[in-house]
Amino acid sequence: MKSYLKLLDEAYKKLEEKGKVLKKGEGEIEIPLPKISYHGKFTYIENTKEILEKLRRDIKLLMKFLQKELNVGCKIENNIIIIQKKISIDIIKSKIDKFIENFVRCPICKKLDTVLVKKDRITFIKCEACGAESPVTYKI
Ligand SMILES: [Zn+2]
Repeated sequence: MKSYLKLLDEAYKKLEEKGKVLKKGEGEIEIPLPKISYHGKFTYIENTKEILEKLRRDIKLLMKFLQKELNVGCKIENNIIIIQKKISIDIIKSKIDKFIENFVRCPICKKLDTVLVKKDRITFIKCEACGAESPVTYKI
């Protein structure tokens, strides 16, 4: 019988073959796949920091987003997002993709070289590639 860790490892390999990594725009920057570990009933996104460094987004924003999307409590410890429930890597990957679509990708030129700026309490995705400023429509 295969050990749980081995199964996890194989599942991860399959994911890697399928999607390699989350795509950043037209493949110019690669975002690492989430690395997940389970501790009791909790899910740890071990490489939260690496993912967010690529995306240049605040950890609190991603935490709040996941909390809303998954409808479960999340917390931050040592730059790691901990979800207070067991969540599969497929779901986490798809939620990070959704986060990118809503908070990172420029809707005009589709690039991910963007920053968030706040004006009159409205948050905009400011694109460093094409200069567009597009309001974030997702309500956290
Ligand atoms: Zn743009």
